[in-house]
Amino acid sequence: MMAGQRRSFFEEQSRERKSGWSKEAILKSLKTRNYKVSQEAEICSICMVKVDEKIGSLSCGHEFHVNCIKDWLIVINTCPICRRSALEN
Ligand SMILES: [Zn+2]
Ligand SMILES: [Zn+2]
Repeated sequence: MMAGQRRSFFEEQSRERKSGWSKEAILKSLKTRNYKVSQEAEICSICMVKVDEKIGSLSCGHEFHVNCIKDWLIVINTCPICRRSALEN
């Protein structure tokens, strides 16, 4: 349903050709937490769907679906919103 939209955004970003992270590095460095029903769900900027499941947050503080941001970081190591370096050692 949202696949087309997501893909074009991906392709646009990947054209910058910044190197992404390995899956192992992402798993080690990505901060994750569970969505709480009491908080307002944010929209994931990668797939444009509310983040009402497991949340992954970058060092800049922006948050996405864990699975979306994992896929993203494999391609490019910058935040999809603010373009800051997504993960730091
Ligand atoms: Zn998402
Ligand atoms: Zn950010």
